Amino acid sequence: MTAGRARYALLLLLTVAVLGCSRPAEPLYQEQLYSMGSLVEITIWGAEHGQAVRAAHAVGQSFDAWHRAWSPHGDGPLGRLNQALAASGAAEIPPEVQPLLGPAQALARASGERFNPAIGRLIDAWGFGGDEPPTGPPPAAMLQALVAQAPSSEDWVIEGTQLRARNPAVQLDFGAYAQGYGADRAVEQLRAAGIENAIINVSGDIRVIGRRGDRPWRIGIRNPQGPGMLAAIDLEGDESIVTSGDYERYFEYQGRRYHHILDPRTGYPSQGLSSVTVLHAQATVADAAATALMVAGLQDWQAVAKQMGIRAAMVVGNDGTVYISPAMAKRLQFETKPPRVVESAL
Ligand code: AMP
Ligand code: MG
Repeated sequence: MTAGRARYALLLLLTVAVLGCSRPAEPLYQEQLYSMGSLVEITIWGAEHGQAVRAAHAVGQSFDAWHRAWSPHGDGPLGRLNQALAASGAAEIPPEVQPLLGPAQALARASGERFNPAIGRLIDAWGFGGDEPPTGPPPAAMLQALVAQAPSSEDWVIEGTQLRARNPAVQLDFGAYAQGYGADRAVEQLRAAGIENAIINVSGDIRVIGRRGDRPWRIGIRNPQGPGMLAAIDLEGDESIVTSGDYERYFEYQGRRYHHILDPRTGYPSQGLSSVTVLHAQATVADAAATALMVAGLQDWQAVAKQMGIRAAMVVGNDGTVYISPAMAKRLQFETKPPRVVESAL
């Protein structure tokens, strides 16, 4: 290197260093990972960089551990519990699974079994959990047989460290609420690490704490029937917003769409609604409720929301009509004009 070039390099280095010093510390830290079958995004505001990196990394490791622990198949804790239930109707409850059982059972009951984590067999029959989407629906006779077995939260009992199934068809699948539950646990972990402002986003299941500096966190709600955002909402303090929709996992077969949220009473994908968005303090509750309201459909969503303690919800019918509770309407701004908005008491 010539002297001139060396000087130029040094000057450049100094300029960068000086810019680095004089620039205010970037207060936003974001990390993305793929876990629990979804994109997980951790956003932290206002923490010292090293603290944010360590906290986000620890949360990422937790999601990986939860993914393994709560997978309904394989040799992880829930997989083994399901195998034991199938073999003998009883199982020792693994410590990683234990905290999910009580809330899952309570939420299933409150939802009138629209959220029913005992239907693992029905979920498996449709095959939405695989890497490739299914190519067609299972045979109608198979679905009828699975529906007739009617496993529900009444059929499994927690007895100390044992789980006993009264119905041999019980297979547990927490896919409808594990992401929300994970978001809640992740927030606990961030708080313990001294983080006060953050978003945990597990493929659209969101929990926020604090704010983004001098303003709230702004969250977009996807339009279930087209590109872009249907609405935006400002969240702050400690709130969760969860959306379930027929666009998340689905296949088309003979001109019909079959999506991944199943009505345990029919064995088929729920009908009538394209998406459901629920606002609640806890992502666990919002996640179970969003799935339950999809199953409840146009007729029952309000009644089921009330039973589950939900006051702020928005549901989008298959024709694009938006039904929205007053508590949700107060908070949302539409970004895409829906064909019709119906304010629906909760
Ligand atoms: P979500 O995206 O939270 O609505 O959850 C959908 C996932 O939950 C599906 O992919 C299934 O694994 C599972 N699932 C589908 N239908 C139900 C249901 N009625 N009750 C409980 N879990 C369900
Ligand atoms: Mg859900």
